[in-house]
Amino acid sequence: MASRAPYLLALVAWVAALWWGLDWAGRARSSPLAVPTTHVDWGDFFQANILPSLPVADEFDTPLRPPNGAGAVVSFPYLEEGHLGEDWTTAKGDAALGEPVYSVADGWVAVAQDFENAWGKVVFICYRLPEKRYPPFVEVMYSQLQTMSVTAGQFVKRGQQIGTVGNANGTYPNKAHLHWEVRSMVGLGVGAGFDARHDNRMGPSEFLAAHRGDRFKEPLQQKVLTPAEREGWGTDY
Ligand SMILES: [Zn+2]
Repeated sequence: MASRAPYLLALVAWVAALWWGLDWAGRARSSPLAVPTTHVDWGDFFQANILPSLPVADEFDTPLRPPNGAGAVVSFPYLEEGHLGEDWTTAKGDAALGEPVYSVADGWVAVAQDFENAWGKVVFICYRLPEKRYPPFVEVMYSQLQTMSVTAGQFVKRGQQIGTVGNANGTYPNKAHLHWEVRSMVGLGVGAGFDARHDNRMGPSEFLAAHRGDRFKEPLQQKVLTPAEREGWGTDY
């Protein structure tokens, strides 16, 4: 038994060294605030390696009832109560369940994932904007879907169906709608949907109106409900 003592002492010394601030091999740990030298930021990687390969999205249509949103309803607007996107639907309550949702332009699917009760099925699509536009790209979040018909990594065309309107797997019962956000950064994740700060977000209808391209000849026709009209329509509020 006595012959084990040196090993036990070494073990105790090693654990103490770890505790004291050395790494497993005895080197001093680097500062936890050290600037990473090898980490690749997703936004940087996207701009360097993916964005140049994307089609230029120079025409945009509505995500419901394209091309111009005739028959679509904005049931809750951007920024009201800190809303980070817009809620769109086509009928009261859950009557809009299954309504097709379309890509607003030619783009690339970054994420297509089921976030279950929090957000339902969510699709993120990146769009490369024409030269001399700022920002040079946007990422659009299409959330609370009932079904998805695209997968991460694939290219999509403007007007291609990507899924159907849902109620976030029942999180918003009898409130089926599409919550969608337009972001000037990629990889922000689903987020909270509501926030006092709206950095990196843009008003979806305003963005559409400004980026219609040749579709300007198709004036946007989605109906924006007044607060008095919202009763019974789907929102995530
Ligand atoms: Zn919403």
